Amino acid sequence: MYSFLRELVCPDCEGSLIVHSKKVKYGQNSFIKKFFECSDCYINSIEYIPLTPVKKTKLLVRSDNDLNRKILTSDNCVIKIPELGLSIMANENSLLKVSEVINSFIDNETVQKISKGEKKITLLLKDPYNISTIIQ
Ligand SMILES: [Zn+2]
Repeated sequence: MYSFLRELVCPDCEGSLIVHSKKVKYGQNSFIKKFFECSDCYINSIEYIPLTPVKKTKLLVRSDNDLNRKILTSDNCVIKIPELGLSIMANENSLLKVSEVINSFIDNETVQKISKGEKKITLLLKDPYNISTIIQ
């Protein structure tokens, strides 16, 4: 369960915004996961703050296993795939699988080839806040 609770003012309705925080671990990476919910208008959001100092910002994706790895992005992270000339703006603080990130930008045939080990791409995370990381 969430171990820490506090209350803020909701930016939307100025009601009570309840913040729950807890420590979570994915692989070798630890995070503080914050869940915000307004008790008046019910807007909610999730934020991840990394606690692990060493960040991995480059991943060679060449198997199904790699496609299932998770990436934590800040809302200012640009994900670059140089082989395909792609720059993807991650416009939210989220924790997603590699496949979920690239599916909207890469055709299914290419994803299938990567999954079978017939093609490889490189993911580079460019984050001015130094929050984004590939989960190790
Ligand atoms: Zn509200």
